[in-house]
Parts: sequence; structure tokens; C-alpha cells
Amino acid sequence: MTPPAIVILGIGALNTARRVQACYPGAQVHGLQDRVEADVAYADLGAHLRDLYARGTPIVALCAAGIVIRCVAPLLANKGVEPPVLAVAEDGSAVVPLLGGLAGVNVMAREIATALDVTPAITTSGELRFGACVLNPPDGYALASLAQGKRFVSDLLAGESTRVEGEAPWLDDAQLPLASTAKLAIRVTPKRWDGGTDELVIHPRSVVAAVSSSGEDVAEQVLAALKAHELAPLALAALLAPAQRMGDRALLDAATTLGVPLRFASVAAEGRIDAADLPQAASASAAAKRLLDATMRATYAALHDDTGTNVALALSRTPIDPNTLGQARGRLTVIGLGPGSAELMVPAARTALTEATDILGYETYVKMAGPFRADQQLHCTDNREEMQRARHAFELAGAGRAVVVVSSGDPGVFAMAAAVLEALDASDDPRWHVVELNIVPGVSAAMATAAQAGAPLGHDFCMLSLSDNLKPWSIIETRLRHAAQADLVMAFYNPISRARPWQLDKALDILREYRAPATKVVLGRDIGRPGSSLRSTTLGELRSADVDMRTMVIVGSSTTRAFARVGAGEWVYTPRWYPPAAHD
Ligand code: SAH
Repeated sequence: MTPPAIVILGIGALNTARRVQACYPGAQVHGLQDRVEADVAYADLGAHLRDLYARGTPIVALCAAGIVIRCVAPLLANKGVEPPVLAVAEDGSAVVPLLGGLAGVNVMAREIATALDVTPAITTSGELRFGACVLNPPDGYALASLAQGKRFVSDLLAGESTRVEGEAPWLDDAQLPLASTAKLAIRVTPKRWDGGTDELVIHPRSVVAAVSSSGEDVAEQVLAALKAHELAPLALAALLAPAQRMGDRALLDAATTLGVPLRFASVAAEGRIDAADLPQAASASAAAKRLLDATMRATYAALHDDTGTNVALALSRTPIDPNTLGQARGRLTVIGLGPGSAELMVPAARTALTEATDILGYETYVKMAGPFRADQQLHCTDNREEMQRARHAFELAGAGRAVVVVSSGDPGVFAMAAAVLEALDASDDPRWHVVELNIVPGVSAAMATAAQAGAPLGHDFCMLSLSDNLKPWSIIETRLRHAAQADLVMAFYNPISRARPWQLDKALDILREYRAPATKVVLGRDIGRPGSSLRSTTLGELRSADVDMRTMVIVGSSTTRAFARVGAGEWVYTPRWYPPAAHD
């Protein structure tokens, strides 16, 4: 389980928060910025809780239940995906599970209440009566039908008793009304549920579908094979394919359609799987494991015979942990964090971070991308080691890890995406080339600054990096002259640094040859981050001392204009049209 975020608003809750934290390895205390110093700082409670909720992070909020509900209310439409959400009284005197009944909120409520030595405010009738959520089986098991489950529990609450068929160790401690002759049955089986209303069917994820070749309809073939054996699709633990097919799109699509992980095994010529790649049943006995191993070997041998079958199934008595089965296809996602604030990060980037096993990047950006779970590995490096970082990312992804490389803003704008592609282009390692590579865009500093200032990029513009670390200064000068002549608005990245003190003045001198002193200039510093500032000035007044390496400089064109905004400052914009006079 993802460790919960323990969210507090002030120092008064810190003590209780630390006691809750002690129950969950890897959990962090999130404190309201400037009010309380905790493990993670946040600026806005509502936005932060929604962000955590959307990421599926369990939430323990040490504040009024009403506040928590109001904060996450806009996201409550989909009951299926809700993480546990609990409100805990600041002084530890009350524990109230609010949301996430199917994700184990009541289990957490009991754990926290035990730690705080109080009684949890559990209101779920089935849970109260049976001491366990029958509808919330542990990892490795899936409920066949939630609607039938609810009906079944209400039958039990109405006085029916039940049998338990199959292995359900998590129900051992529950106070279920058991009777061996009962009409109702809880059945733990990989077999399909036939729709009967007197049973609650729970499927152990204990079937592996081995596929030999790809094709358009792999998912359909797997479903047909399951059906032929009367097995439930929910009993499928994973798809297993030969490692040679790692880059195969059809297999990837099939796994997505079936909603299971796709794993790869090294398969030798005669169809024998490497022993290390064989599935391990989570808690199977040695005999059961041997049986499973034998089935998998037979499976691949049969597939290799090319007898017309493309799918073979191997069944274990207990759930199979897909992570112990061969290796995953590695993933490398290059993301942009946007300028800084969580709201300006695209959801796809957040998803990639949540799914990542390894996160690489310049330390400042990796910190900005957190908080992370204890099981996620961070690889922080110096800002200048980009090629080395890109190669490291491929090494990790090539070994089956889910890797994220973080950049600020957009990863394709003077950032890591190009470095990653350059590393891949230069490599002939086939393991690197089958990595699932994705680049997720972000809000670049120029866009974020422009939006705050108004719309200075409303007409044709260009983005230039003034850094001459990777290109000669003469190229920069030529580009500045051409851009100035073309009357483009310019967004300057990397405008100045300690190692490059004179370049910005030189650039401004060049611009002043072409543009009037009254030309509008926007300066955005640390936009989207704490302590951000926005200024507008003119080309005539701008001094390089007004700018540092955390500043975005937008120099307007001849048509960029400004007018006063109510309150303070001005709106700067560049009209979408071009005045004929300026053109002639
Ligand atoms: N990939 C990043 C740019 C990296 S280059 C992006 O798309 O935004 C680094 C330069 O970007 C800095 O020198 C600065 O000029 C600008 N920059 C990055 N983040 C910024 C922010 N939050 N506010 C203002 N400028 C920023």
C-alpha cells in the first residue's frame, strides 16, 4: 500500500501526526507552509488534498471532517478509485474514516485508533458486524462483482450464514456467521462466477497467460482461452511473452485491454524458459511451485511447437505476484514539471511520477516533483551532467524499471528530452531501443511568465537560450540579429549566470540597434514558485542587474503594448494582427 500523507494545518497537530506516522513506514507529515515545519510543505489545503486524492494517495487529515469533505468533494464522482481518506482530531481523541471503504479505510481507522488508544468511528455495518470488509479482499484477489457483493453482505446482515470455499486466509479473524450447511457461500476460485445470487465469488489472481506471438487479437485469444477453461478474466495475474517481443505494440495493447501487467521471459530455442524467469506463487508450497514451473515449461514448449495455439494458460493454487515473473518492459518517461506549482503540472506527468520506480534529475527538480514513496529510488545529479543522466536512465529502463527523468518547464525546451534522444540515437544496445519511451510536455517558463503578464507571446515569437555553454556566442549573436530584424517577440532562457556575466548586456546592445527604447520587456522570476515576481519594464530601462539565472526575459516586438490593470501593474500583450504601416 502507498503510505498515507498525514496532513496538518498547525503545530498543535504535529505530535498526533508523528504518532500516526509511526504506524506507516514511509509516511510523511505534510505541513501548511509558514505555519508548521513538517516533512513536506504545501501552500493550499484544498489544492493539496485534491492533488493527493487524485494521485490515489491515502490521506490522514488532522482537521475537521467537514473541511476534508469540502476539499475533496469535487473529485468524488468515481467511487471505484477512491483512496482511503480519514479525519483525525488534532489531539488524537477521534478517528473518523470518511472515504475509501473498498480501499481499506476501516482497516486504517482501526490501526490509527489502536495507536492513539481510542475507538474508531466506524459506521460501515458489514465492517462493524464482521470485523473485516468482506468486499475488500487483499492484494492478489479480485471481487467478481461489487453489486453482488453488496447484496451478499446485506443478506448476511439480515441474518443469513455462509460457508467459505477455497482459501481465504484474510477472513480467518473475521467474525463471519459461518455454518458448513449454509445456503450462502464465499467462494475463492479462479473459475468464472455464473451469476448465482447465493455466492460471493473472489478470484485469486492465479492464472498466467503465456503468448507466443503477437497479432491483432491477442487479448481476444486470451479471453477465449480463459473462457474455454471456464476461468474468470479477473483471475488473470499477467501476460507472459518471450523477451524477444519486448517492443511489440500488439502485446502492449493486449495487456492494457486485459488490465494486467505484461512480463517477459527469456525463452531458449527449444521453448525452455530460464528458471529465474519462472513465476513464483506468492505463498505457494514448494510442491505447488514445482507444478507451476512445470506447467509454464510445458506451456512454452507447446507454444514453440507451433501447434496452432498462440496462448497457453498456467494456473497456480495461490495468487501469483507478477513482479516475480520474468521482467517488465522498461519504461522511460521524460516529463516537464511546469514552472513549479503542482497545478501547472500536466496530469500525465503526475501519473508517470506515481508509477515510477526510479526518478532522475537535477536535485532541485527532483525535490520539486515529490513527495515520493519509500519504494521509489531517487537519483539526483548535478545540473550539467545531462548526457550521463540520460544514459543512466536507459540503463535502468533497459533492466525493466519504470524510470522518470524530470525537467523543469517543458522537457523539450532547453532540457532533458533532447539529451535522452541523443543518448538513444548514439546507442546500438537493443535493450535501450525496446524501452517504452514517452515524452510528456510541460508548461514552459515562457508560457507561464507570458500568462501572468497577459499575452506578450500573442503573435509570432521565438525562444532563445542565451547560454553559450553548448553553442558558440557568434551563433547567438546572428540569431538575435535575425530575430530582431524579423520583429519577433523573444523569450530568453538562461539569460545570465555567474559564469556568463557579460552575454546579456551584449545581447541587449544588439537588440537596441533594432528596437526602440520604449519596447516592452517582461521579467518573470521564479514564476509558479514561492517568492515569484513579475515586472514589466522597457528595453531602454532594462539592466542586466535586474536579471538572474532564475529569470525569464520576454522582449516585445514593435507591436507589443501595455495598459494599466486595476489594482496594480499593467497588462502586456502583442496583438494577433500586424499593422500595415509597421509592415511597409
Ligand atoms: N525546460 C525549461 C527551461 C530550462 S532552461 C522550461 O521549459 O521552462 C532554464 C531557464 O529557464 C532559466 O535560466 C530561466 O531563464 C527559465 N526558467 C525556468 N523556470 C523558470 C521559472 N519558474 N520562472 C522564470 N524563469 C524560469
